Amino acid sequence: MKLAGKIALVTGGSRGIGRATALAFAAEGADIAFCHLNDDAKADETAGEIRALGRRTLHRSVDVADIAAGRGFAEQAARELGPIDILFNNAGINIRKPFEGYTEEEFDRIFAVHVKGMFFMAQAIYPAMVARGQGCIINVASQRGLKGAVNSAPYSSAKAAIMGFTRALAWEATPKGVRVNAIAPGPVVTDLTATMTPADRQAFIDALPVGRFGRPEEIAATALLLAGPDGGFYVGATLSPNGGDVMY
Ligand code: NAD
Repeated sequence: MKLAGKIALVTGGSRGIGRATALAFAAEGADIAFCHLNDDAKADETAGEIRALGRRTLHRSVDVADIAAGRGFAEQAARELGPIDILFNNAGINIRKPFEGYTEEEFDRIFAVHVKGMFFMAQAIYPAMVARGQGCIINVASQRGLKGAVNSAPYSSAKAAIMGFTRALAWEATPKGVRVNAIAPGPVVTDLTATMTPADRQAFIDALPVGRFGRPEEIAATALLLAGPDGGFYVGATLSPNGGDVMY
């Protein structure tokens, strides 16, 4: 197994891409701590599936935008499961509307969950990784941070910031044994995209060379590549499984 004996912390692990990644990591031997926001029923289901794979797990509702709460969860995970080897920094939200309609509060919330939340969750876990001379941090960005999109200006901006953060931290972390990368998925079938209008969804599909949305498991496969023994030469990279939406 590729992650035998490893401990992973997944933010936003109750459903969607986080859940698929937690299960993919668990299937490869990792114990999993995950947080979510007010999604207890789905979190319990995910935890049950992780246990059925024979792994240890713990989960809690934690708003990653609350830095002290995120830090507390990281400490609890390390205390109960052991030192964190892999951070899958994934929790996210979107608020869709035309640029001119965003309020300061909405802008701040999107940046607080994505950029601030990811930054400080990484900061909570990083020193212990450095002390052990090993670790892997994967930040979930989006193809929208690469190419932009209508009705998602703060989200696209935050996702671009995450890629910048990933590269900056990779410069500092790599010599200390900690690998930092990002994943920028294209559109994936999850609750996050379920709120798109049918017209928006169809327009997206029509523009995708692959002609369909991705499955969460297809993003989890990229996460497993980065986290596992075959990912050792990826540093500060943004891998983008996106159905051909962005080719680079
Ligand atoms: P989802 O809505 O299915 O799941 C989001 C998860 O994050 C849930 O577990 C939720 O409880 C958790 N969460 C939300 N806000 C949180 C907060 N403040 N604190 C802690 N947990 C919180 O969404 P998804 O599609 O699986 O998205 C996961 C990540 O992938 C996000 O960062 C998203 O921006 C990114 N992404 C998604 C797509 C897509 O098409 N679905 C594409 C590109 C990037």
